[in-house]
Amino acid sequence: MKKNNLIILGSSLVFILLIVCLVMPKKDPEKLTTNPKNDEALVKIEKLKEENSDKELTVNRQFGDVLIYLNFLKDGINTSYFVDYASGEVKNLEDFIKSDQLEAFQNKITELLKLKYPTFVVEAIMAENVNKEYHLEDGSLVILYDNVLLDFEEETILSLRVNFNEIKDYLTFAVELDTEYENEDGYLYDKNKKTVAITFDDGPNGSRTNEILNILEANKAHATFFMVGNRMKSGSSTILNVLNHNCEIGSHSYNHTSMKRQTLNEVMADEAKTEEIYKSITGKDLLYTRPPYGAVNTEIKNSLTNFIINWNIDPEDWRYRDKDRIVEHILTHVSDGDVILLHDSYDSTVEAVREVLPKLYLKGYQVVSIGEIANLKGRTLELNTIYRSFKKS
Ligand SMILES: [Zn+2]
Repeated sequence: MKKNNLIILGSSLVFILLIVCLVMPKKDPEKLTTNPKNDEALVKIEKLKEENSDKELTVNRQFGDVLIYLNFLKDGINTSYFVDYASGEVKNLEDFIKSDQLEAFQNKITELLKLKYPTFVVEAIMAENVNKEYHLEDGSLVILYDNVLLDFEEETILSLRVNFNEIKDYLTFAVELDTEYENEDGYLYDKNKKTVAITFDDGPNGSRTNEILNILEANKAHATFFMVGNRMKSGSSTILNVLNHNCEIGSHSYNHTSMKRQTLNEVMADEAKTEEIYKSITGKDLLYTRPPYGAVNTEIKNSLTNFIINWNIDPEDWRYRDKDRIVEHILTHVSDGDVILLHDSYDSTVEAVREVLPKLYLKGYQVVSIGEIANLKGRTLELNTIYRSFKKS
């Protein structure tokens, strides 16, 4: 087993433990209120309590004349029973979904999974051998997915918490609703999670830039694209597509001349030209500049009117044009707060991004734009400062 695999295995175990802790119902004895009048159900429930007497009964709740739900806990593992109130039979949660709504219910669950997880994770969850386990908690249904195969032949447990508001119309039993709930936010960036910014220089590059946007979207990731001014007009639809994907754009000069080889007046005139073209396309101002080759002198640094963003991880994708080398370089060098430099000019880079984003996710990273990493790391950007990373100082 390679070192990388061990690291991933380690972080996944932490992940599993976290999930098990998160989904454990809170102990709340006041919720133990069931007193069914139905004999069959009563008998069955007593029997279940006896069979599970080595476990702690954590939930015992009746939902109208339809369902009695029991949950037992032992060694961090929950065992749930859905007892039919009328017959006393133990059934599956899906038996308490309106029969003509089962497909709609399943579609809703898939939609919520896609909001929460990257596409490769959703696909792994939807695989045939994955076991589903349902638990009812205050205000929500929690689904545990067991045996999910994400990578390296290693199985893991994932979960989805579904607010009752999302599924109330599909259920045959009435539930108490959280009136504050509006809608599922989906994937949210977390300031406590490891974070890297990914950046692409030298675009816009039409189909390659657009394909990178698709890959970013599938992985719940954002990026910042540093574009060359004289490419912007012909690439205007790509520019708009970048903004539609909630990614950011910065200046990468007007014609990729090293600023150190220009006079200050030439640099400032070129920046103004790039800004003007960008504004004519988007109606917005550029916030960032990445000087070509990362090269500035003190005079230029002190004169630029955008935040100056360089990088600290450089796989030299333009030099090697080798997918595996790019992926390997990123995975062996990455740490929290890094800024990765890539170029959306090469197919090898597009393929490297396709491969590395799921791997970064499995290593516990969220991949974001420059504005997002600054925000997540609590940094207020300042002018005349060269940013290479956003590590906690
Ligand atoms: Zn460049």
